[in-house]
Amino acid sequence: CGIVGYTGIEPVKDILIEGLKRLEYRGYDSAGVAIENDGELEVVHCVGKVGELADKVADRSMPGTCGIGHTRWATHGRPSEKNAHPHTSCDGRIAVVHNGIIENFAELRESLMAKGHVFTSETDTEVLAHLVEDAYEGDLLHAVHAATQRVIGAYGLAAVAADEPGTIIATRKDSPIVIGRGEHGSYVASDIIALIDATRDVVILGDHQFAKLTADSIEYFKEPGERFEPEVTHIDWDV
Ligand code: GLU
Repeated sequence: CGIVGYTGIEPVKDILIEGLKRLEYRGYDSAGVAIENDGELEVVHCVGKVGELADKVADRSMPGTCGIGHTRWATHGRPSEKNAHPHTSCDGRIAVVHNGIIENFAELRESLMAKGHVFTSETDTEVLAHLVEDAYEGDLLHAVHAATQRVIGAYGLAAVAADEPGTIIATRKDSPIVIGRGEHGSYVASDIIALIDATRDVVILGDHQFAKLTADSIEYFKEPGERFEPEVTHIDWDV
């Protein structure tokens, strides 16, 4: 339902919580974040309100400056902590948040399980984390691209990998993703409202386009190795 992500020089925890609060108006049943922490990804989920997620992360030391967050409106798998996003790979070193529906998730799950992947949720989304893991050879853009080649359905997604600190890959098909550069970092969201405090110049990602966000730059790709310059949209309305 709602996606936010940030990589920059500020601690990401509060940025994600604020962004998720901005997306609450869309409705959701659970929420979660994945935050880079000392070479690992720390994932926190909760059923219920973003306020509860905020309480859950408040006491934890999470100084990381790159992360992704999600509010989930369940389509496949009941609302529960283990079905909340972000979903992670078997080794916990890749995390994905996803809006939409992966229609061929059952076949994909079966073929991934045959290769030894262990699934821990009932969602369609979890196949994305395992597909990225399956294709991952140290380049998250490549792996996300490879994963999206195998899925049928609608997706707006953002992914992080513990082995590529400070990098977020985002892409979409039939589900919105917007990207923007703020003073202190790079932002991704499923809705302009979540990043409007950081910037009013946004890129509305097109279907099958990819964005690679780092703390000090954003690059856009039609596919790995094929960069393009996107059109920037200036937002002049107020929230
Ligand atoms: N289909 C996914 C799920 O049920 C994503 C739902 C959403 O867009 O929030 O987990």
